[in-house]
Amino acid sequence: MIKAWFRIPLWQRVIGALILGVITGLIWGPEAESIKWIGDLFIKAIKMLVVPLIFFSLVAGVAAIGDLRKLGSVGGRAILLFLATGAASVILGLTLGTVIAPGAGLDISLPAGTVVPEPQETTAIDMILGMVPGNPVEVMVNTDVLPLIVFAILFGIGILMAGEDGAPMTKAMDAGSTVMQKMTILVMELTPFGVFALIAWVAGSLGLEALLPLAKLLALNYFGCGLIILIIYPLVIKLLTKNLHIVDFFRGIVDAQAVAYSTASSNATLPVTLRCVQRNLGVSKSVSSFVVALGATVNMNGTAMYLGLATLFGAQAFGVTLGVTEYILVAITATLGSVGAAGVPGAGLIMMSLVFGVAGVPLETIALVAGIDRIMDMMRTMTNITGDATVAVAVGHMMDEIDVEEFESADDV
Ligand code: ASP
Repeated sequence: MIKAWFRIPLWQRVIGALILGVITGLIWGPEAESIKWIGDLFIKAIKMLVVPLIFFSLVAGVAAIGDLRKLGSVGGRAILLFLATGAASVILGLTLGTVIAPGAGLDISLPAGTVVPEPQETTAIDMILGMVPGNPVEVMVNTDVLPLIVFAILFGIGILMAGEDGAPMTKAMDAGSTVMQKMTILVMELTPFGVFALIAWVAGSLGLEALLPLAKLLALNYFGCGLIILIIYPLVIKLLTKNLHIVDFFRGIVDAQAVAYSTASSNATLPVTLRCVQRNLGVSKSVSSFVVALGATVNMNGTAMYLGLATLFGAQAFGVTLGVTEYILVAITATLGSVGAAGVPGAGLIMMSLVFGVAGVPLETIALVAGIDRIMDMMRTMTNITGDATVAVAVGHMMDEIDVEEFESADDV
């Protein structure tokens, strides 16, 4: 029996768990919360890997790139692609929100006792300050991913500058990154159980009735994310790589997609995304470590699309008219908001206050959609990590750092 279990490829076990989880949750109802701890255990185990994995792989990745000029071209290309896909996603969200108008004619009575969130007072200066690690150990303890990334990249650059003297450190970091990857394989065996429990909990506690009043917004969120995954990303891969097949891409990334969908956290999915991009899609260690670790925090296309969509939803629900200036401001703020959002569940919801502020949309909208945010967040997160993999493959191909045979082989994680 145990042998038969392991003979099934992991991604098939995970998809099976996902479907079974939905059915179980819908039948069992809110009681399904009693097995949520299994999902929490899985998330905890995978989170355990995040800080050391980001640190070791980023440092090893930067050191492996070899020289500062090449680091600049990998980083530059990645950031350009992050921005381009982010902007395309916001425009898609704004278009869907305008054409379909999900908030028009909505009964906007809020449930009694709803707390309306305070607007977020984050300035550009706060964001810049937040990126610099005052104390590297502290950022590790707090899993502050953005300053951790900055520290790791600088550490890697330091190794490159040290030349021969830095070589033993490169070896140590490489070894650390390999060990963390092996640990990832172990933890990933928990995935089917974690996914089953988390999905059963979400389906059970929400039920179908909670979704009805906001069904249009929910459907548009899924539709928009679907378009990004099925049209924008394949287009990027087709245009920038030509010879790589999109089916192979999806086949290679499906494990990470399932984990992202059930955990609603890009950070928690990071070990799996990295493993899929390296092992299944054949992107070199140096490029994948750099692009995926950075992307998990700054590249959130699903979130960007949703922020645009939700702003129009709120404007329509509360009768606020948006002019061209507001549209432009929303597009810019939503893109920046998606960069600033942490890769944790509900981060997009928090960023809403930032975007709503520039468009004059009442913050009550946040309370209105909060009840079904989790189920939308799952799809956003899946989109976000697929975007990281897309950019990693594109940059890998541009830099000649991808093993095409590995990409095309049907090997599972
Ligand atoms: N949960 C998402 C992520 O981790 C962010 C969001 O809330 O949109 O990618």
